[in-house]
Amino acid sequence: MKKCPHCAEEVKDEAVICKHCHTDLNKTTEKKIEVVAKEGMFLQSMNGCCGVILVIIGVIVGLAIIGFVGGLIMANIH
Ligand SMILES: [Zn+2]
Repeated sequence: MKKCPHCAEEVKDEAVICKHCHTDLNKTTEKKIEVVAKEGMFLQSMNGCCGVILVIIGVIVGLAIIGFVGGLIMANIH
């Protein structure tokens, strides 16, 4: 059983039209899938953006640590 998104009454999973309010249930589910797909694409693009920023931060931090350790080693040698 699933809930009708319009009248919140329980209808069968196989139901195409709600028996309570006669809403086309197939159309509403298709719209929901479309919205979920769009949100997924948006989140994917956000993840790609964050990934690039994380890589840049990682490189900067890595270079800073290498420079700091390198400076300490040079200071110890001299
Ligand atoms: Zn309904």
